[in-house]
Amino acid sequence: MIAVAIDGPAGAGKSTLARAAAKELGFLYIDTGALYRAIAYCMLRGGVDPSDAAAVEAALPGVQVELKFVQGEQRVFLGGEDVSGAIRTGAVSMAASRVSAIPAVRARLLSMQRDFARNHNVVMDGRDIGTVVLPQAQVKVFLTASAEERARRRFLELQQKGQPAGYEQVLAEIRQRDEQDSHRAISPLAPAADSVLLDTTGVSPEEAVARLVSLVRAAGCA
Ligand code: C5P
Repeated sequence: MIAVAIDGPAGAGKSTLARAAAKELGFLYIDTGALYRAIAYCMLRGGVDPSDAAAVEAALPGVQVELKFVQGEQRVFLGGEDVSGAIRTGAVSMAASRVSAIPAVRARLLSMQRDFARNHNVVMDGRDIGTVVLPQAQVKVFLTASAEERARRRFLELQQKGQPAGYEQVLAEIRQRDEQDSHRAISPLAPAADSVLLDTTGVSPEEAVARLVSLVRAAGCA
């Protein structure tokens, strides 16, 4: 099986890149952030504070999270309910960053992520795919862009979705998530030693896809 690992901070363009590259390569695209988001959403809905590690850990056995693929598109389910849309809010983003720092949460999701890569050729994106989840991945990319560029993209995306937020607020949230994700004790966001750094500041999505696909082909993997 072939695995392509894409890690990087929020808003670097990981999902756009990973989805398009997976399509071109005929691989399965797996967005691992959706799993952390689903757990966070479940906690918020159940009135559990996402920063309270003991409370989250106690609630975890009751969380039934599943990924399914509908015509190649990933959907995430909580206890049989499709929550793929509901997990895409600012509040869930921040809560996901909180629950993801809890070791029991990461342990719970690890084997699930590995199982997909055992059975399929995958492009998987997240924060610790190249370092922890799939250290054997044939191609590893650490995708980044300046915080301002990432905030600008998120700001435009929110506007398009009809959920306008102030640019300064979006930038502050991106910086806060960067800080949390990079400084947590377990699986912090960091490039794998053998990853290729791809900075997408000023790089079009098409160009980023072309670069990734050529890396995969150069590795003799497609
Ligand atoms: O990528 P996305 O923004 O959907 O991820 C939401 C949060 O989940 C991130 O801020 C990060 O804290 C966490 N996450 C993680 N490890 C992953 C994927 C996401 O810790 N592999």
